[in-house]
Amino acid sequence: MKTIFLDRDGVINRNPPDWGYVCNWTDFTFLPNALEAIRDITQRGFRIFVATNQAGIGRGIFTEQQLTDIHRKMLNEIEDAGGLIENIYYCPHHPDAGCECRKPKPGMLLRAVHEYDVDMSNSFFVGDSITDIQAARNAGASPILVLTGHGRDSYDHYINSDSNDKTHKPDKIFTNLYTASRWIIQ
Ligand SMILES: [Mg+2]
Ligand SMILES: [Zn+2]
Repeated sequence: MKTIFLDRDGVINRNPPDWGYVCNWTDFTFLPNALEAIRDITQRGFRIFVATNQAGIGRGIFTEQQLTDIHRKMLNEIEDAGGLIENIYYCPHHPDAGCECRKPKPGMLLRAVHEYDVDMSNSFFVGDSITDIQAARNAGASPILVLTGHGRDSYDHYINSDSNDKTHKPDKIFTNLYTASRWIIQ
């Protein structure tokens, strides 16, 4: 079964201003056509997971309970629109904690491999940050960059980096999750 991993902030929903955090459902706004994209990917028979860094928990800015509440409401809206997210993996740790799950590490994706028998060579990871691209590479999935969220900055970063660091380079670039989904389901 083909599998799509999605980053959350900047892909499904708007990034809060100034690198802030989505702390409550009132901070959460779906990006235009994100619900339609998830619906169409679901209905084409793909399995969808979310993999999101949520260091606001480790920093003490919001609680795991607040995050769970946001995700419950997010999943409800997605299901009302006809989409399905199989599971949401999140890293709650502080960036300095040295955990194995915070992207660019592949820990969250590898958990899905373990728990759902995901075939990474048949998987895409759609993200807006360089760390999403790196996590995809580190896990063996194909990275797709979208230009929503921090995507424009990520694009500039990889275009301007003079190194041959291929871990920064996405396989495909799309303006947003909806246009990415057109290509994914074709
Ligand atoms: Mg993001
Ligand atoms: Zn972690």
